[in-house]
Amino acid sequence: MIEEQLKKFIRDIPDFPQPGIVFKDITPLLQQPELVKLAVAEFVKKLEGVEIDVIAGIESRGFLFGFLLAQAMNKPFVPIRKQGKLPFHTISESYKLEYGQATIEMHEDAIQEGTKVLMHDDLLATGGTVVAASKLVEKLGGEIAAYSFVISLDFLQSAGRLTRFSDKIISLIHYD
Ligand code: IMP
Repeated sequence: MIEEQLKKFIRDIPDFPQPGIVFKDITPLLQQPELVKLAVAEFVKKLEGVEIDVIAGIESRGFLFGFLLAQAMNKPFVPIRKQGKLPFHTISESYKLEYGQATIEMHEDAIQEGTKVLMHDDLLATGGTVVAASKLVEKLGGEIAAYSFVISLDFLQSAGRLTRFSDKIISLIHYD
């Protein structure tokens, strides 16, 4: 099963970036080109039948598989970045972190009214990042067609936060 194959190349890093957090590190997987191809093909398969115009990837690890997926699906790619990184006119959305807050941005011409967006990130934890990214899409009149993640931390039970935008949520690896 592909999930078990992929899991072998996800490394647990205890106490990163803060004490008490076990960080899921996907860099070993990136060193396995054949598995990366399988992972992209699996995303494409799971998204069959979903109408998608654009793939949006969230900085920075969301760019890795997000861009490959856009290429595999022959669709445009749109970056969502941290504040101050995008060069053109942007819209922004702030959201709460455990300590403090973060702001993400998107180019204002990245999508148009009615654009169906696949929102991609490497990992779903609390859902705060991807909810803020979804609000950016909504502000520009777009719709979330589906979500895709390499990893979903299901024990945090965050998927419910996404269903107001889309209930099509795909993850290749789950941790219960
Ligand atoms: P959330 O906003 O709490 O869902 O956190 C998800 C965001 O934080 C994503 O953009 C991830 O890249 C990053 N993130 C949180 N925890 C991890 C982890 O264990 N490994 C890799 N990225 C993580």
